[in-house]
Amino acid sequence: MEKGNLSIHSENILPIIKKWLYSDADIFVRELVSNACDAILKLRKLSDLGEAPNVAKGEKYEICVRTDKENKTITVEDNGVGMTADEIKEYINQIAFSGASAFLEKYQDKMGADNEIIGHFGLGFYSCFMVADKVQIDTLSWQDGAAAARWLCEGGIEYEMSDSDRTTRGTTITLFVGDEHAEYLEEFNLRATLTKYCSFLPVEIYLNPPEISDETSEPAQTAEILDTDGESLELETETEPTPPKAERKPINDTAPLWLKSANDCTDDEYKTFYRQVFMDFNEPLFWIHLNMDYPFRLKGILYFPKLKHELEYIEGQVKLYNNQVYVADNIKEVIPEYLLLLKGVMDCPDLPLNVSRSFLQNDGYVKKMSGYISRKVADKLNSLHKKDGEKYRGYWDDISPFIKYGCIKEADFYEKIKAAVLYKTTNGDYVNMEEFLARNAEKTAKKVFYVSDDQLQAQYIKMFREQELEAVYLTTKLDNPFISYIEQYEREQELQFNRIDSDLSTALKQGETATEEETKQKEEVEKLFQEILGNSNLKVDIETLKSESISAVVLLSEQVRRMQEMSRAYGGMDGLQGMFGGDAETLVLNRSNKLVQALFRLKDDQTRKDDTALISQQIYDLAMMSHKPLPNEQMTKFIERSNLILERIL
Ligand code: ADP
Ligand code: MG
Repeated sequence: MEKGNLSIHSENILPIIKKWLYSDADIFVRELVSNACDAILKLRKLSDLGEAPNVAKGEKYEICVRTDKENKTITVEDNGVGMTADEIKEYINQIAFSGASAFLEKYQDKMGADNEIIGHFGLGFYSCFMVADKVQIDTLSWQDGAAAARWLCEGGIEYEMSDSDRTTRGTTITLFVGDEHAEYLEEFNLRATLTKYCSFLPVEIYLNPPEISDETSEPAQTAEILDTDGESLELETETEPTPPKAERKPINDTAPLWLKSANDCTDDEYKTFYRQVFMDFNEPLFWIHLNMDYPFRLKGILYFPKLKHELEYIEGQVKLYNNQVYVADNIKEVIPEYLLLLKGVMDCPDLPLNVSRSFLQNDGYVKKMSGYISRKVADKLNSLHKKDGEKYRGYWDDISPFIKYGCIKEADFYEKIKAAVLYKTTNGDYVNMEEFLARNAEKTAKKVFYVSDDQLQAQYIKMFREQELEAVYLTTKLDNPFISYIEQYEREQELQFNRIDSDLSTALKQGETATEEETKQKEEVEKLFQEILGNSNLKVDIETLKSESISAVVLLSEQVRRMQEMSRAYGGMDGLQGMFGGDAETLVLNRSNKLVQALFRLKDDQTRKDDTALISQQIYDLAMMSHKPLPNEQMTKFIERSNLILERIL
């Protein structure tokens, strides 16, 4: 047997890092700035631990990014720990050796739970070769007596090291940008990239800041020179003239709201943050502030938007951060898919920064994470429902699409949120299924009648109210799959959703079973209608409805209707259409209606055959009309017949 160590040739590995490790060239901004940030966080930590006595207590730390179009350079400067020549050899020359990890290991016990150090792979630095032909490091370590060092590399495997003329503590990375990446030399582009990745880093970041003028020279004087001359003679460089009292304003917010404890955040702060991050001037409805420490760290805010229309296309955006560094939007491996319909920010410091999708898909840890987020959201919604029911009910119409989608997508979520899934009822309130079933147990048992279109089904709603029955509104597109899901999930409960115009017989009947005479009458009437309408398959029923004003209604069994809808959705399979065509509808005549009663008397009178036919057809069309829009031809006939009836009255 032979054992050994694999060796890697850096000339082969470098192109891989440069080309394949990162999908977007702009990542170099994120990597260099986060290294600068780490350098400062380390120094701050050392200073806090009393290990860096030569660093002033109230030291102002900052990162400056500068572009120089003339020299085609981008520099990233920090006043953090800096590096000695030996450290450069260790951390830079050894690819994939992370100084961040080394630091964390060394100070493991002292870091506490809120470790903010970003790096840990030891690969980030080399991403700068994606845009630079040459990279120079000038650095001076914080350590007493350290000498400034310079490192220069042209992207191959050779580097040069020498003394640097740097006099202040910290590091400047200079990128000599290749012509094909000149776009990054534009301040506008670089600002956009910085804003994308670094908006919430914990150290102030400045882009091309005006030079700090020393206190003795009045800034106004400089302005005067500029005013009279335009081209300033005083300035040595050709950079754009600095406006008189230019403000130094960092591009980032070093303490993003999600890091604060929810108790300390005001509504205004949440709203302002929402506007800033999402550029959305519509106010969010409400939000959930997540703050987990166990089993992994996660902080974030999820905003529920207010929907303008019920069926509005919902486009969410959940930004994922890692220690305040932006990673990507809408990573569905980490954040449950249904939550991606919301807008929000999530910071997961335990996730590796350069997440690749395939890595995430196969990571058990990440999967668990998604589950926890889901559960946490369910908890928050449940507690809102319990503690502030009125508010929650007020939100329901807007949040129900998210919740229903979540239920369909994740059984666990449904299981958790069940009690807070509400149904708007025809009685005008919002209840959960348990409450609904309890109060309707005697009348409709396990059948839940629902309205899918309150205008089309207005007649049925009216009838329901008169019969003192209750239905729920399920009027959005999502409700169809939602209903199927609930029925399937709750199959042991035998819960059954029926549209309000489906088989009502049990609900509407006054209770008495039909007498022999009634059965006979039913058969006669059915035959009559079949003959007059020329439809031998038509089913007719006679019921005694509480409301006298309704002559008849058309009912379509729930099952058949669903089949029809399905076949229509799949491009109208003729076979199915034929099987479940118009025949499946039942015409229910109302025995307590005067017109129906008159028809029953009239039908045996041979001299009034014409009138009988006219009334039957009209009753059928009227019932049909409140069931669904009449086809053109039938509508024309209906109008002609209506005119005829009016003429007869005259
Ligand atoms: P990582 O950040 O994952 O450790 P990088 O390749 O980004 O890996 O950086 C390698 C190491 O180089 C860092 O860990 C750090 O020790 C050192 N380094 C890079 N940039 C700086 C900087 N601006 N100041 C001090 N040290 C730096
Ligand atoms: Mg790094």
